[in-house]
Amino acid sequence: MKRRVRLVITDLDNTLYDWVTFYVTAFYQMADAAAAILGVTTDRIVDDLAQVHRDTGNTEQPFGLLQAAVVQAKLPDSSVGERTEILDPAFHAFNRARKRHLQLYAGVLETIETIVQSCPLVALTEATAANAAFRLRTLGLDSSFDRIVAREDTLAIPLDPTILEKYSSIYSKMDFIPSGRAKPDPDLILSITSRYWVEPADVLYVGDSLERDVLMGNDAGVLTAWARYGKSYDPACWERLVRITCWTDEDLTRQREALGGKSEILPDITLTDGFQQLLDYVDFVPVNQLQSRKE
Ligand SMILES: [Mg+2]
Repeated sequence: MKRRVRLVITDLDNTLYDWVTFYVTAFYQMADAAAAILGVTTDRIVDDLAQVHRDTGNTEQPFGLLQAAVVQAKLPDSSVGERTEILDPAFHAFNRARKRHLQLYAGVLETIETIVQSCPLVALTEATAANAAFRLRTLGLDSSFDRIVAREDTLAIPLDPTILEKYSSIYSKMDFIPSGRAKPDPDLILSITSRYWVEPADVLYVGDSLERDVLMGNDAGVLTAWARYGKSYDPACWERLVRITCWTDEDLTRQREALGGKSEILPDITLTDGFQQLLDYVDFVPVNQLQSRKE
């Protein structure tokens, strides 16, 4: 028998699209281009950018290149504007690769269209607000989400105000993960369910990470769906990602254990083929409008 849910909360990266592949590809193409411009090895660019990621606790910020030690050493007297101009081909390389690889998994769009006919849809991502906003807009999903819960922007270079203006319609429905909180803290889900006045048992949470998404959903008492298909990227991409992440050793150990199948974390539903399999397991029923609480 299908489970009935009134609210759907979903992770974004590697649940709706292959973030690992697009980001790693775009990042290393940017690093190759920057290495050619500055006359240094790609390894040096990558290592210095990884340091920027660790210093800021944010793995995904291409403009961190402007702050990298190698750039400061090679272009010591240049302004941020001058560095941006000199490194422009590297940023273009990033954008080209992102454009090519950032695409929804098959079946995601149609499934989301079905869900939002009945239920509010909320995003819960540890991507920064700027990155989440960009991806949802690029993928044509910005109007599908009722709320978006993301990390506050922590960038080495502050966002251009014109970018904030361009994405203001998405930022207006953005909530930030409280500082010091992270997946798998079940309060991240419970603060969403209470906002909608929905019992956790009437909520579906979908995510690709057993140790962060599924564990969090199980602890919150919601129905959990594991997007196992989100792990089907090239393992070489994963190693290249680990090299540049701001993750701690503890984070990595937990993820390796989960990837190695040692995890005891069991989802209610396992999606092997794609997001659209949700329709086989779940009925989406309208939440009473009066139950929705806006702040
Ligand atoms: Mg994910």
